[in-house]
Amino acid sequence: MKKVLAYGSRAARAPLAPLTIERREPEAHDVEIAILYCGICHSDVHKVNNDWTNTHFPVVPGHEIVGRVASVGASATRFREGDLVAVGCFVDSCRTCPDCRAGHEMFCEKGATFTFDSFDKKRKTRTFGGYSTGIVVDERYVLSVPKTLDPARAAPLLCAGITTYSPLRQFGCKPGDRVAVVGLGGLGHLAVRFAASLGSEVTVLSTSRAKENDALRLGARQFVATQEPGAWEPLEGQFDLIVDTVSAPHDLDRESTLLRSFGTMVLVGLPPGVSRFNASALVFGNRRVAGSNIGGILETQEMLDYCGRSGILADVEVIRAERINEAYSRMQRGDVRFRFVIDAATIAA
Ligand code: NAP
Ligand code: ZN
Ligand code: ZN
Repeated sequence: MKKVLAYGSRAARAPLAPLTIERREPEAHDVEIAILYCGICHSDVHKVNNDWTNTHFPVVPGHEIVGRVASVGASATRFREGDLVAVGCFVDSCRTCPDCRAGHEMFCEKGATFTFDSFDKKRKTRTFGGYSTGIVVDERYVLSVPKTLDPARAAPLLCAGITTYSPLRQFGCKPGDRVAVVGLGGLGHLAVRFAASLGSEVTVLSTSRAKENDALRLGARQFVATQEPGAWEPLEGQFDLIVDTVSAPHDLDRESTLLRSFGTMVLVGLPPGVSRFNASALVFGNRRVAGSNIGGILETQEMLDYCGRSGILADVEVIRAERINEAYSRMQRGDVRFRFVIDAATIAA
């Protein structure tokens, strides 16, 4: 075992503080990664706050990891020392069940091993995430980062990127489609970039009028400040696809009325609590509600390669590790343009 430095939280809502954690010695198929950057996803905040009531403490969050290969196991063939690589939301799965074979490892029948706060069945240990200086991962779950991409700005692609790219592809976002992105945060700003690059006409629905210029710069044609009087009525029946990235409880029933007939609203945001729908708003119009969870390894690599070709990256604010708690507070106030990324070189004991 090797000791590495990390930042984690010891109890629900407790501030994140330096910790020392252990990583296994690289096994035959493993890649040892020196972490350069790790994005801060709102799921990390939900986990530290125990919003989903399933967090095990201490927790070391982080699943938007970019780093350099430090060493490889004796039988690992896909990467070499020095390669720019990435790790996303999961680090293992059974590999043989229908979902694993179909490239949907996150839905592994035996249960995927997620990058943090998950149980590693093989080693009977809990996983710790990317707010750390190093990680050891089986090469099957390691992604290759195109050399043209800035590593700090690429880190958020590993969760926010795949989580928004995947539903746009699944639900057939195509040139000329009218797509609404609800919530302009880490996920939302990448959804706008992807949807615009796929040729659709993007409208951003946001609670923050101050984000209007950014929305247009990111590629949106229209911006709607949803708290302002009369904002919703003109949008009724307008959209082929809605991608909802909102992290807090909000009125999904009203949002569904913005779909045209046969339109689909995809939920990727995971607010705590229960969401309600009025059946008639869905029935009259054959409107559809769907969910989408991250993406598998092949699709994540496809997304990274697409970003390599199209130059899509996140807008980031790179922070020192001691500012993680301030970043969490600012994220909860919607004050981030548009992803905090931790510089792993600043993680110190
Ligand atoms: P984020 O950067 O904090 O962005 C969330 C955005 O939601 C905010 O910027 C804000 O946008 C909007 N919002 C916040 N509170 C709101 C409220 N009360 N009413 C309406 N809008 C509100 O978070 P993120 O990292 O993008 O994550 C978003 C959600 O997706 C989280 O719940 C996260 O856990 C979930 N998630 C899901 C997956 C998946 O696989 N499906 C993957 C990653 C994350 P405006 O200021 O523009 O209103
Ligand atoms: Zn995430
Ligand atoms: Zn499986």
